[in-house]
This record gives sequence, C-alpha cells and structure tokens, in this order.
Amino acid sequence: MIKKILSPLMISAIALLSITTVSSASDNKAKVSKSKKSTKEFQYNLVPKKVSDNVWCFFGALEAPTKENAGNMSNSCYIKADSSYILWDTGPSYVYAKQAYAAMSKIAKLPVSTVILSHEHDDHWLGNNYYKEVHNAKLIGPESINKNYKVGQTDTRMFQTLSENAIRGTKIIHVDEWHKEGIKFKVDGVELEYVAVGNGHSAEDFFMYMPKNKLIFAGDLVMNGRITSNRDGSVLGQLKALEMINSKEWNTLIPGHGFIINKTAANESVQYFTLTKDRILEAMKNGIDSTGIVEAVPLLEFKDKAMYKLLNSINVSRAYDELSF
Ligand SMILES: [Zn+2]
Repeated sequence: MIKKILSPLMISAIALLSITTVSSASDNKAKVSKSKKSTKEFQYNLVPKKVSDNVWCFFGALEAPTKENAGNMSNSCYIKADSSYILWDTGPSYVYAKQAYAAMSKIAKLPVSTVILSHEHDDHWLGNNYYKEVHNAKLIGPESINKNYKVGQTDTRMFQTLSENAIRGTKIIHVDEWHKEGIKFKVDGVELEYVAVGNGHSAEDFFMYMPKNKLIFAGDLVMNGRITSNRDGSVLGQLKALEMINSKEWNTLIPGHGFIINKTAANESVQYFTLTKDRILEAMKNGIDSTGIVEAVPLLEFKDKAMYKLLNSINVSRAYDELSF
C-alpha cells in the first residue's frame, strides 16, 4: 500500500539507503528484507595500542564517517583499573564496542565498570548500550546527550551513514550521571579529573586528566593530522579549553581524532584556532564581511591536512558568525 503512493524515484532512494550488499536499486526491491539481516557483522579489525601504563587506545581513520570505515574514525580508550576497565568514549556503534572489548579481553578479561564520555557527537558514544547491556557499566557523560537525544532515536549521523551490519544492535540510551562543573574522583582505584569546559568543540565538552600517568584524554578539543570540525563549536571556547589542557602537567595526550600523542599533540589545535581568530579579526578590520570571509581566511598552513576541503570553509564561516557578533 505504501509503495503505491511513493514515486519510483523515492522507492529507488529508499532501496539504495537500505541495501548494503547490492549496488543496483532497480532489481532488488524484493530482496530488501532478506539482505538486510543476512550480511555478516562488519569487521572493524580493531587493534589496541598501549599509550601509557594500564592505558590502551583504539585510533580511528582521519576521515568523515562512511559505509566503508563504519564510523571507525574517532579514538576511544581503555584504562585498566584495580578490578575493572574504565572507558573513555565508546566509539560509533554497538558492534564496534563489542569488538573493542573482545580485543581488550585478550589483554585482561575484566568487566567494564565505568564509561566516561567527552561530548555528545555520536561517533564517540554509540557503543554505550553494549557496555550497559553486557557489563551494566555506569555511564558518565555530558547532560547534553540526555537533552539533545531521545532514547531509541534512530536518525543520528551514524545511523544514517553506517551499513546495517555495522549499526545493528546500536541503541541510543541516556547517561546515568553528569557533572556540570566536572569532578575529581577515584574510580576503582584510579584517580581521575573530569574537567568541564563548556562550549568548546560542541555544546558541552569535557577532557579528562589522569595525574599519575600525566595523561590527558582530550576528546575533540584536540585533533591532529586533520582539520577539526567547528560546526557546533566556539573559537573562543576552544582556545580557553586548550589553555586549560595545557595548564595541566602532561606528557601524553590522546586526541579525539588523530594519532599524535606526544608533547606536540595539542599544538596543531592551538595554532589552528589562534590563526582562525586572528585572521578573521584582521579581515573584519579591513571591512570584509560574511560574503568574503571564507576566501579571505584560507588558512593555507593547513591545506595539506586531511579533510581541509570538506571542513575549513565551514569552520571559518562559523567562526566569523561567532566573532562578528
Ligand atoms: Zn566531535
């Protein structure tokens, strides 16, 4: 009945969205329901990398989320505590989280007691329901997740982008606990500082400091090797957050996206936002308005970084709106 009222073009579009194993939409309307469930679970081939004492991370590609990478383009980490694991971000899907845990359980087969989240963008926390359902982990994260997402919602960026065999099992659930002002706490024997920075890269960002290891988990307040996404961000908020990060004594920093984790890990972000701010203010002084700002501030120092073409002009125009207010 529904098909009768849809145009052939719409049916093709729906079929294209639903099918992952067949490329032509014309001959497969009947196969939709069959092929949806018959594909094998997506294999992320996750390999944990030890970054510090008792800390391992999974590093994602410097890319936008696609069917091919199945959202494996953000970083998430495991901290081995006294008798459990503590997680920093849970990745883009249930399947990712399940496979990350399988890889970590070869190092030590411990339950996951606690999940701590950097921010509300869904490439960083859609693994939550795996850790809740299988480990009954406590979920600590920004309140913005509970405000801006509905339990059971299925139209976020990852749901729209990933193949069925990667997003299957994923459910949006709310966090159990949030800390508007941040918190210093001891979780299963590990001292942690969860630092609130407000609107930096997203509506509500946090970074986490592990003083014993002189380690920062920066979330998306730091990216390296690629251009950041400032679509929900604030240049001034980012710069403030980077100052807060650099006021801590750290030797290792895990970016939200990117592979550099040594003392230089945050430099690109500091440079990018400083130049963005200075050059936009300079252009404004010279009378350039919103119609000319993207051309006037190309930030050519960053032109060889991944995702420059996709994101730089959007970032500059968003930053102009903020700074010209
Ligand atoms: Zn983000």
